[in-house]
Amino acid sequence: MGSEPIATIARIEMLRREAEVALDAAKGDAALTAWKGEWLGKGGRITSLLRSVGALDAADRPAFGAAVNAASRTLEAAYEAAASSRQADAMASALAAEAIDVTLPGTPPPRGRLHPSTIILRRMLDIFAEMGFQVFLSREVELDDVNFTLLNHPPHHPARDMQDTFYIAGTNEQVLLRTHTSPGQIRAMGAYAPDPIRIVLPGMVYRNEKITPRSEIQFTQVEGLAVGPHITMANLRGTIDGFVHRYYGPNRRTRFRTSYFPFTEPSAEVDVSCGLCDGAGCRLCKDAGWLEILGCGMVHPNVLANGGYDPAVVSGFAFGLGPMRAQMMAHGIDDIRHYWGNDVRFLEQFG
Ligand SMILES: [Zn+2]
Repeated sequence: MGSEPIATIARIEMLRREAEVALDAAKGDAALTAWKGEWLGKGGRITSLLRSVGALDAADRPAFGAAVNAASRTLEAAYEAAASSRQADAMASALAAEAIDVTLPGTPPPRGRLHPSTIILRRMLDIFAEMGFQVFLSREVELDDVNFTLLNHPPHHPARDMQDTFYIAGTNEQVLLRTHTSPGQIRAMGAYAPDPIRIVLPGMVYRNEKITPRSEIQFTQVEGLAVGPHITMANLRGTIDGFVHRYYGPNRRTRFRTSYFPFTEPSAEVDVSCGLCDGAGCRLCKDAGWLEILGCGMVHPNVLANGGYDPAVVSGFAFGLGPMRAQMMAHGIDDIRHYWGNDVRFLEQFG
């Protein structure tokens, strides 16, 4: 009698069931590997059964061997199934953890848009283009002569005090940032004289002022200029009315008030009837019933001469308006500092 218990078919069955229970309990890769070593490895508990075959009768050996091999194959198959199910689980949980729901709304890349001052400028230029005015772009850095003197502001003219000026350092106050778009009139006349002109001059102007809700150191202007034979104040009025009806609406009325500008004679300021109260008076127009929108006049003969025209032969009109002011009025913008504040919450409301 050997010291080992006699291995029988029944014992093989018992061991196989024990192995199956252990396999069920083996969770995770490490446990599966350990199970395989314990049961099916070289010295594993099933494999080692074969070593006891010598203790059997020769007649029983083939059946015993076949039973061990069958149990071994069954357990091998069970192990493969468990391992691949474990892999599938791992894959499934990884997919769940990294899942992307393609039906969720994405994060759109931020889209740029035109600045409100550009939008309003383009709208006004479109209207003037429709009325036959050509755009003339002039420089922002100007000579003092062109910005003032040739526009009939001689040195020490009190009108120079009306505009605080940014001079370019080191130029002895001869070069400056234009304080209005009017020097473009001199540039345009120089380019076209003695031919007729019908242009608009848009762009940025600069004033050395304290920045407040009502005033900025830079803002846009649109200047209009027409020069030619037989141009009268009636042409000016018709042009302003044409613009007002296109921009503000066909039912808005205009009112000319006499005024003074050095470069026009006679000069006028133009009001448009309030769009909110139609002249009755309200908060928007401060009970006036009218809103001031631009300054204008007949080009001063001195300015025509400075531009290269003969004031005895041609005449002209000019007007200047503030697109940003018009936009502020239309949209109820109460602080001009919003324009250059770079706050996208403001900028996004346009365009
Ligand atoms: Zn009103």
